[in-house]
Parts: sequence; structure tokens; C-alpha cells
Amino acid sequence: MTKTIVRVADPHTAAIYLRISEDREGRKVGVKRQEMHCRAHAKRLGAKVVRVYCDNDISASAKSEKERPDYQRMLRDAEAGLFGMIIAYTTGRLTRDPRESEDQIDLARGYGTRFEFTHSPTVDLTTSAGRRMFRWMSANDTGEVEDIQERQSDRKQQLIADGQWTGGRRPFGYKSDGRRIKRSEQEAGLDAAKRLLAGDSARSIWGAWNEAGMTTTAGSPWDGSNFRQMILRPRNAGRVGKIPAGTKDFRKALEKLPKSQWKPMFAPDDRQAAEDLWVALAHKLADPARTTNPNRGRTSLTLSGSFLYRCWCGELERSGGTTAAGAPRYMCKAGHTRLAGPIDELVRAVVCARLDDQGVKLLPKTVDRAPIMEKLAMLEARAEEAAALFGDPESGYTAEQFKATNARLRPEIERLKRELAELSDGSALEGVADAPSPSRAFLAKTIERQRAIIGALVTVTILKAPRGRHAFDPETVEILPR
Ligand SMILES: [Zn+2]
Repeated sequence: MTKTIVRVADPHTAAIYLRISEDREGRKVGVKRQEMHCRAHAKRLGAKVVRVYCDNDISASAKSEKERPDYQRMLRDAEAGLFGMIIAYTTGRLTRDPRESEDQIDLARGYGTRFEFTHSPTVDLTTSAGRRMFRWMSANDTGEVEDIQERQSDRKQQLIADGQWTGGRRPFGYKSDGRRIKRSEQEAGLDAAKRLLAGDSARSIWGAWNEAGMTTTAGSPWDGSNFRQMILRPRNAGRVGKIPAGTKDFRKALEKLPKSQWKPMFAPDDRQAAEDLWVALAHKLADPARTTNPNRGRTSLTLSGSFLYRCWCGELERSGGTTAAGAPRYMCKAGHTRLAGPIDELVRAVVCARLDDQGVKLLPKTVDRAPIMEKLAMLEARAEEAAALFGDPESGYTAEQFKATNARLRPEIERLKRELAELSDGSALEGVADAPSPSRAFLAKTIERQRAIIGALVTVTILKAPRGRHAFDPETVEILPR
């Protein structure tokens, strides 16, 4: 069946179609060179180039479903008779799919459009033999693309099975080979994981990273989504691959993945510890209570007892809006209300006193950090002493002696610090109970972390208060040590 030719374009006018893509040809023959070849071809044919169309077809997915807006525009312009010829580098540049070559055949038959290729044979689409040849070339192009995709996918599967990195952008915490640890980022990543476990919000962590000028490896600022993706990578636990969506048993899902050739970010020298930390974190971040917590993102320190303190009636306290004067209140499910400010202040004071009084004794007993900390303090004192001696011209202490002392002390100090870091069990009290001033460390923490610490140390029950306006009576709050 022949279509009526709507409008006959000048056969000596041409459009050039260029496409840059991720396949080998697309990379090798950049847009500029494709255009140069096409223009030379037009010149040889005595055609005038009236339009240049160009699509950027680079996409992350193996099988691109992306629209090609310029390609579509070109087909419409050809139908409108703006040019009589389309020149492309190869049939593969013009067509990605046999369906598209049928459109081109329609264009040739219906509108007389001629197709010319600088690096593929040019065929006459008005003849049956030409169309057969064109369809075969197009099928072959598609086949080649699919072959490459299949090979890439096989290769990727093989790499994953071997515990190797499949490439891409440099992973956070690692150098560009995806294998060697980048110490500064690894430490930041590990610290973030511990703080999340201790009850800090993700927002407070990535917010601080952004403030400190630390970006993703793509150079963009951190946000809730890229941070979460990074911190929950199985890579951090020394595993390769992905955890399926909807996973409930994180440990099992993790153990199904091949072990990585690289060291885990969460504990470079202890795979088991890294996996344990990862599993704990995955459960913590999957906890729906996190996202429904009304205190999320709050910077005010009042109402830190929401869903933590109990009302005398047994219900949990939650935020109960504010009084007419704007003071935040607690309200239980049964509707009992109390002013939040004085209660929070009292609880905080009790927790501070307890922290300062007991200090490191509050840390989980299974972890005996004291001897390591003592030894570390001793070595650091010695290093300081050496520095002081070296700084004193009358001491007669030479640069060589100073260097030798340092060379002896430093590796041991670093080793002990690492040992201490690895002893951490993610308890909310880490870095607080063992701080020089535990109460000050506590008050400097985010509201989420303070809540976790309060919850770890005391139980708070808000007792029945006499009706009417009264000064706050500390006796109406029961604070018991855990
Ligand atoms: Zn109540």
C-alpha cells in the first residue's frame, strides 16, 4: 500500500541527526565528529544542511527507555517537508529499536524522505530489496546492543559473586578503586553509624556534615535520601550486592550476599563486628517509630519526654500543644496535662547529677575500658612531655630524640584509640558517661540523643498534681534510676 505524498520536500535539503550514548560507538565518535562526517557527506551529495538534531542518550540504566525529543521533532519536521534527506553516522545512531526503523520506512514511502549514513551502507527505502536490507541492518544493530548488555550483566554478576566492586562513582569511605579505605570518610561513616544507634537523628548528622563542607563523592550536599543509602550499603558490612526491598530479617538477607574483597567501613578489621553493627542499624532505621516521632527535627529541648515519660494513669506522655501563654505541655491519651518546661528541667538536672556522680560506671559492664584508657592517658602524657622538652631550648632535647620518642609512642597511641573505638557497643552513654564532664557532654547532645540517655538512666512518671495554679512541685514527678 502506498501512501499519498503530502508535501514533497526539496530533495537537496538535509537534516543531520546526532546521538551521543554510553555504548562504545557513542563514546568513541563524539557528537562533534559525527557532525563533521555528516556535513562532509552532505557536501559530497550536493545537499544543503538545514537542520541539526541531537539527542543526549546517556542514561544510567542498561536498557534506556528515555525519550529522544530531537528524534521525534525530526520525524515531524520531515513530514512537514522541512528537508528531504536525513543524514546520520550509522544506522545504529539513528535507530535503537526495530520499531523505529519501521517509522523511517513509512517516512521514506509516505514523504519521500531519503536516509543517508556516513558509516553504514545507504539503501533505497523505496525498493523492497532496500527495505529488507534496512530492516536487517536495524535488527543487527539491536542485536549488538543487546549482546553488549548481556555481556555487561554477566560480567557484573561474576564480579559480585567474586566479592568485587562493579564500578561506578567512588564509594564514600573508599578510594577510587573502591577497595582501599579512605580513612577520614571511613571514620566519619563509622561515627555516624554509632551515633544513629545511640539515638541521634540522621538529619543532625548529615546536617553537620554539610556544615563542615563534607559532600558526597559526587560533590553534592547530603540529604536524607543519599545519607540513608550510603549508611545502609551492605558494603559497610563487607558484603556485595543489594538487600531486597521489604526485607524483614536483615541478618539473613545480609548473609546471603557474597563477602566483599574490600574491608568493611563499619569495622575494617573485624567482619563480624561490622555485620553486627550493620544489622542493628538496619533494624533501627527500619523502625517506623522513627518517622512518626513528633519530635523529629525539633531543636527545642522541651518535650524530650514525649513517648518516654509516663502519666500517673499509665499512659505515655506526648506533646499536648501549648497553653494559652504558649508554654509547651505534656498530655497523655486520657487527656491529663502538665506544663513540660519545669518537668524537663528537673529530669535533666537529675540525669546530669547521676552522670557526674557515676560517670564511666554507667557504661555497660561487659566492656572494660578503664585499663585501656589509663594506658592511653599515660602514653599521651609522655608524648606531651616530650613535646614540652623539645620546645624548651635549655633541655638539650634534640629533634632526633623527639622524633624517636614520637615514632615509638604514636603507633601505640593510635592502636589503643582504635581498640577503644572498636569496643564501642553503640550505647547511648558512649562518649557521654566517659567524657571529662559527663553532664556537660549530655547537655551538648541533640534532643534525640538526650532522650536516649534519659531513657537509659531513669524512668519518669508524672504524678497527679493539685488542680489550679500552683508553683511547680518537684514531688509531683517521680524519677527512679533504672
Ligand atoms: Zn494520664
